[in-house]
Amino acid sequence: MSDVLEVLNPATEELVATVPAATRDDVDAAVGRAATAQRGWAALAPADRARLLRRFAAAVDGHLEELARLEVREAGHTIGNARWEAGNVRDLLEFAAGGVERLSGRQIPVAGGIDVTFLEPLGVIGVIAPWNFPMPIAAWGLAPALAAGNAVILKPAETTPLTALRLAELALEAGIPEHLFQVLPGHGAVAGDALVEHPGVAKIVFTGSTRVGKQIMSKCADRVKRITLELGGKSPNIVFADADIEAAAAAAPMAYLDNTGQDCCARTRILVQRGAYDRFLELVAPAVESIAVGDPLDEKTQMGPLISRSQLERVRAYVTDDLTTLRGKAPEGPGFWYPPTLVTGAAPTAPVAVEEVFGPVAVVLPFEDEEDAVRLANATEYGLSGSLWTRDLGRALRVSRAVRAGNLSVNSHSSVRYSTPFGGYKQSGLGRELGPDALTAFTETKNVFISTEA
Ligand code: NAD
Repeated sequence: MSDVLEVLNPATEELVATVPAATRDDVDAAVGRAATAQRGWAALAPADRARLLRRFAAAVDGHLEELARLEVREAGHTIGNARWEAGNVRDLLEFAAGGVERLSGRQIPVAGGIDVTFLEPLGVIGVIAPWNFPMPIAAWGLAPALAAGNAVILKPAETTPLTALRLAELALEAGIPEHLFQVLPGHGAVAGDALVEHPGVAKIVFTGSTRVGKQIMSKCADRVKRITLELGGKSPNIVFADADIEAAAAAAPMAYLDNTGQDCCARTRILVQRGAYDRFLELVAPAVESIAVGDPLDEKTQMGPLISRSQLERVRAYVTDDLTTLRGKAPEGPGFWYPPTLVTGAAPTAPVAVEEVFGPVAVVLPFEDEEDAVRLANATEYGLSGSLWTRDLGRALRVSRAVRAGNLSVNSHSSVRYSTPFGGYKQSGLGRELGPDALTAFTETKNVFISTEA
């Protein structure tokens, strides 16, 4: 395996940087340094930890444009998205900083004394991040873990280490103690695996494919290592005939094309009630065809390239010649480009309809009634997100409760807010991130009974 990582610009295929890949020894040394730094950090007054996290947030805020442009170069994200992503890191750090002084245990009534609980930090946390949202997903683990008194070692994806490395520099400049937050770019099977196997790492926060998540889960079982998994998705977008069909059709394209479909929450199974099916297709087809695909730095661009050649080949393999498709445009020449694509008439069991493509491809499938919609929505091993469009409030609530997924939105495609919990049902994951309880996922509850009768 190569000892350097080559970072390519996905829009041009130009080499942006080469970065040394961490070895198992590098991971071992980093864990030792992190353990020492963590003890000092946990001993700081909560208000001081909160202040340092707010300074880290301010440093990110002061470098938003630089971070966003770096994300465009290494990941091919549109500049608008990349700015949102850098802002999300700032917001997560601020939100987590607000939790430091509110991380309270409980006092529980018992006989013969008092009983209190403490929420204690776990120690060193390994965060293994994917390439599709390098900055926000790193911060989903990083911010609450630090706020709860832990140290963090972040292993970014092979293709996207640059923003993570820059965040670590900004943390130091902001006064976050040395070695408390370390970034180790490297190969999953080497640096990632070393974090998973290391006895000094108390918890793994993994975001990535379900395949790798399962391997990591079984390795963590050996040590009963704590774990949070954020895995794949194949999320439904259910459009009932009573919905505002114009609004549903206008929102559907970007609900699966945002980030070039490389979004675990992408609404890639568009389920439309039969009575509205033809009208929906009539409206959605020109919308898909007119998506602006091109230079990610152009403010008007709505969709950039895929991350890599291998991802491009993977997406191509799903859209087989026998499928009926509607396609938008994509640039020719260098870069990992694939056009916005909508597949109609696929069997509900076809690979493109049930597997995570992770590209700008969705299927449209008709359904008969509410029961049929729920059955189709749940006919997947995944359960991350979903949307439903209806004007009937009772139906909105019934279907929201019946779809087995962690994040539902009604008449909207919103999935992720730093202040609300996020995570998957079924094979989409284990545990929750973000939201009011984000910090407690990085603590152990210790119960202490103090006798008043001695
Ligand atoms: P991936 O599983 O290939 O890699 C994710 C990370 O794991 C990378 O850093 C990689 O280097 C590392 N890794 C790979 N093999 C490893 C091993 N054996 N041990 C330890 N670490 C290892 O996933 P990807 O292709 O980078 O990301 C895309 C996937 O991530 C999609 O399936 C997507 O749905 C999922 N995802 C999920 C969420 C969510 O919140 N549920 C968010 C974003 C992405």
